[in-house]
Amino acid sequence: MDRLASTSALNLARSLYEAGIRDEPVLKAVANTPRERFLDAALGHKAYENTALPIGQGQTISQPYIVARMTEIILQCKPQKVLEIGTGSGYQAAILAQLVPQLCTVERIKSLQIQARQRLKKLDLHNIAFKYGDGWQGWPSKGPYDAIMVTAAAASVPTALVEQLTDGGVLVIPVGETSQQLLKVTRQGDKFVSEAIEVVRFVPLINGELA
Ligand code: SAH
Repeated sequence: MDRLASTSALNLARSLYEAGIRDEPVLKAVANTPRERFLDAALGHKAYENTALPIGQGQTISQPYIVARMTEIILQCKPQKVLEIGTGSGYQAAILAQLVPQLCTVERIKSLQIQARQRLKKLDLHNIAFKYGDGWQGWPSKGPYDAIMVTAAAASVPTALVEQLTDGGVLVIPVGETSQQLLKVTRQGDKFVSEAIEVVRFVPLINGELA
């Protein structure tokens, strides 16, 4: 993105540094991204607070700390192609698209997908492919992916997603119902090694029909 960072976005990046985020490209992407454009005007004044906020349809834009944390985890494997499940507002996609060559993102609510696509286009982020579909299935025809990030909580790790990882690829996903653990699952050949990162809170990864 070819813009000057706003002071508010810069301050948000600083507070994420204070909270323990140390990956410089991630902090720069946060400082460069106008989070208020991913929210209704009425919530604009809260855009640079480190909190999750409603985006309509019962969904939320994730807390900036967790966006940055999940992003720094997947960047460790230097991914070329990344799949995001749960496009939502498009904010996480905006961060990722500045840091990886190719991003694919799947959303099951059409109206959110349309809005996110418009916002990302306006920010001149053109390395993103959008799919209206069920994230439990991933996006096999575009795969395999070096990293997959799920931004909604699943009851269990979806088999279809781990199958779409390259060897050495990483899946980051919140798993659980009331209390969720953020898991990092690394593919090692036919083996999948799982590591718990921290306790998190996400809206559920819906199982079933498209909205
Ligand atoms: N990454 C988003 C977070 C949005 S909240 C952001 O930065 O704003 C989670 C999103 O996951 C919601 O938009 C919700 O509609 C979507 N979602 C839930 N279940 C899904 C499923 N099975 N397939 C695809 N998207 C799903």
